[in-house]
Amino acid sequence: MKAHISHLTELISKFYIVILAATLALTTIFTIQSPVKAWASDWYIWQYPTEVTYEIDYASCASQTETAWSTCVSDWDNAQNYVDLSYYYIEDILLTATTNNGVAWHGTTTKTRTSPPNYYITYAVSWLNEYYTENPSIYDTANKRRSTAGHELGHTYGLSEYPGAVLMNTSPSERFSYGIYVPQQDDINGITVLYY
Ligand SMILES: [Zn+2]
Repeated sequence: MKAHISHLTELISKFYIVILAATLALTTIFTIQSPVKAWASDWYIWQYPTEVTYEIDYASCASQTETAWSTCVSDWDNAQNYVDLSYYYIEDILLTATTNNGVAWHGTTTKTRTSPPNYYITYAVSWLNEYYTENPSIYDTANKRRSTAGHELGHTYGLSEYPGAVLMNTSPSERFSYGIYVPQQDDINGITVLYY
């Protein structure tokens, strides 16, 4: 009888170990498949994301703006493997600058797109507004220009604004307060979902 009881106890403990293992496995799978979404898309993407070309408009950009554009192209290139930009004089993305004291934006992006149902991006232009980005009381480091340039480049990839500690946060001052100058994991997750 004693032997039976200890056998039963052993069975019960094995049963609990199996349940515990199954619970852990399910929790892990659920966590991997359901990341907290911290990015947004406008659902327009490049049809051939590995063949997108870009050009920096050197004639219109201050040297610090040129550096910001070239650095953020590298940042995005290093962060993910889905959208691959190459420099070419017939460009899909023009990276340029303006000086406009009549607007609040430090950077902006416009995109040309195909009609439904495809919604492919066919051309994009991103500006830095040097009225702000060349103002050393606002942009006192190269990393801050890099942050705003990288945010705009994120728009050309198909990402939209998203609050919080991400590069796609629309507010330069919030990004600076978080110390965010390059694509974060949530920004990269957005690109992965759009292009995987
Ligand atoms: Zn934006």
